[in-house]
Amino acid sequence: MSETKKGACLCGQVQYQVTGPFDVFHLCHCSQCRHSTGTAHAANIFTSPDRIEWLAGEELIKRYTPDKPGVISKCFCTHCGSLVPYTSLKSGKLIIPAGSLNEAPGILPRDNIFWRDRADWYDAGLDATHIEQFPDD
Ligand SMILES: [Zn+2]
Ligand SMILES: [Zn+2]
Repeated sequence: MSETKKGACLCGQVQYQVTGPFDVFHLCHCSQCRHSTGTAHAANIFTSPDRIEWLAGEELIKRYTPDKPGVISKCFCTHCGSLVPYTSLKSGKLIIPAGSLNEAPGILPRDNIFWRDRADWYDAGLDATHIEQFPDD
């Protein structure tokens, strides 16, 4: 069954829709993904490039292409800096940053990859207090 999901960048100028079902959903803790996202791990859904349709703002998307081989690339909205879907030069797969979707992707993470490389504060973060808003202090 195919299902269409919409997504957008933070400023909302880049908008897209993707049609599932998707291949796989990885949480990647590698050092490159941590630097690329600025957080603990990437949350990437993989599918084929023909599954995406850009609805708005495609001209705002910039691709970072590394100078060195073996470094991941990324695409982002030049207005707000959010990661947006892109086709991997290496695998040819469409990589959708799961957090850019406006709704549940209909697939759950299959695994945490590069687990040994995870941030040394990651495990403590999972056990930290859960609250519903920004704290007072
Ligand atoms: Zn944006
Ligand atoms: Zn990674």
